[in-house]
Amino acid sequence: MNYAHLKEELIEYSKTIGIDKLGITTADPFLSLKDRLIAQQENNFASGFEHSNIDERVDPRLSVQQARTIISIAVAYPSKLKNPPKSLPGKRRGFFSRSSWGVDYHDVLNERLKKLEAFLEARCGPEAMMRMVDTGALSDRAVAERAGVGWSAKNTFIITEEFGSYVFLGNLITTIPFPVDKPLEDLCGSCTKCIDACPTGAIVEPGVLNAQVCLSYQTQTKGFMADEFRSKIGNHLYGWDTCQLVCPYNKKIPQPAHKEMEPDPEKVKPLLLPLLSLSNKEFKREFGHMAGSWRGKKPIQRNAIIALAHYKDQTALPKLVELMHDDPRPVIRGTAAWAIGKIGDSKKEENELLIAKKREEDQEVLEEIDKGLTLLGFAVEK
Ligand code: SF4
Repeated sequence: MNYAHLKEELIEYSKTIGIDKLGITTADPFLSLKDRLIAQQENNFASGFEHSNIDERVDPRLSVQQARTIISIAVAYPSKLKNPPKSLPGKRRGFFSRSSWGVDYHDVLNERLKKLEAFLEARCGPEAMMRMVDTGALSDRAVAERAGVGWSAKNTFIITEEFGSYVFLGNLITTIPFPVDKPLEDLCGSCTKCIDACPTGAIVEPGVLNAQVCLSYQTQTKGFMADEFRSKIGNHLYGWDTCQLVCPYNKKIPQPAHKEMEPDPEKVKPLLLPLLSLSNKEFKREFGHMAGSWRGKKPIQRNAIIALAHYKDQTALPKLVELMHDDPRPVIRGTAAWAIGKIGDSKKEENELLIAKKREEDQEVLEEIDKGLTLLGFAVEK
């Protein structure tokens, strides 16, 4: 079998099924990654969403014993919203990050990797292969870097020369001895725009992220959001794009034409207030196809409440009062109480908070009610 020729055929085929870039690397362990992952854990910089076994994360042969190569694919996603609906007083809107636009990229890339798998099996016979998109053992970014898909940038994304960092990545571990690609030169140079622009200093040094303080991570947690982050997330319901938006390599890039990735403006910039009344079923129907729904309804609704507080949207007060009194979830009751304090300016809101304080039994919610009262200027007795 001529594997160089097979690789050329594979690349040509990949273009016909909506893969924008493909590189191949060996299945050798990612040795330098291991030290970085250990340091990440020791410094408590990990998000906790990562695959937990470091050995499996760095050694592809722990996933596929006879692995010879890893195919890395990149699918570009759009960064510009056509005709975005306006966020107006009384009709304020939230925002989903670009990685959540269109159909969940896990599904899109998995389907494309499946096609590559079928293509290779048709030519090589049954092969041991394994697909990974984001949630697999391997680091998609480490694979893409070594496979020459892009360089590993200071903002911790992979930057491709063609599409900037707005690419989703996936891998296919194979037992096929393809010729491999070379890593690309790191073109960040002396630029530090992403580091300087990060509102929480989450990029602690070039290429090192403290995920715990990254606003993207913060939008995905399920508990109470710390006050320092509430004041920063603005209208973001899911994810955070600043470190990509400021990158010079993300300017003047083509907008890809994958129809699955096309954002529905009403979904990626939804009205905030209706989000607070969605049942689980309605949430799934409206947002379940988006990557940003993976943590469920609660973090999105919590963030929507914080966004309404950010806008000081007085029209939200009746709904927030209802949530504070009646919602079964402490995070929603407490965040609503805090938001009432941020938005309210009358005795009426103070009375509602005092009623809630009498009834509430959850300690964390009680603390949020006190915060709300303090914001309204009420002297809270400790
Ligand atoms: Fe690299 Fe500058 Fe882009 Fe950051 S903003 S990733 S330093 S080029």
